[in-house]
Amino acid sequence: MSDCLFCKIVSREIPGSIVYEDDRVLAFNDINPQAPTHVLLVPKRHLASLNEATADDDRLIGELVRRAAAIAAERGISAGGYRTVFNTNRDAGQTVFHIHLHLIGGRGLAWPPG
Ligand code: AMP
Ligand code: ZN
Repeated sequence: MSDCLFCKIVSREIPGSIVYEDDRVLAFNDINPQAPTHVLLVPKRHLASLNEATADDDRLIGELVRRAAAIAAERGISAGGYRTVFNTNRDAGQTVFHIHLHLIGGRGLAWPPG
């Protein structure tokens, strides 16, 4: 999608602080980190939100989640714990409509969220 911020990071049209890449997945540091680790994991193929995901996307969604766990392990925060979040639409505060999994950790996180 030509007007999608995260598609532009995938295509390198705008810069991202990339921490992982493979054929289907890109992970980059959030520009406004909410914790010592705050990474966004996105599929390279545009998908607006979890609402648009179908059974054909099951593998892709699994790859995002498992890659988040791998990045957490690399950073030594697995045992301490971390949070993985897909914000979907208005009530969850989704602002970028290219699905992204937040990996947030490296400090104690409050629950329930605001
Ligand atoms: P959400 O509110 O779930 O849609 O999250 C969007 C996230 O994208 C926010 O945490 C932003 O800080 C982050 N963000 C916005 N622009 C950029 C950018 N250019 N590079 C990295 N992260 C970004
Ligand atoms: Zn996109």
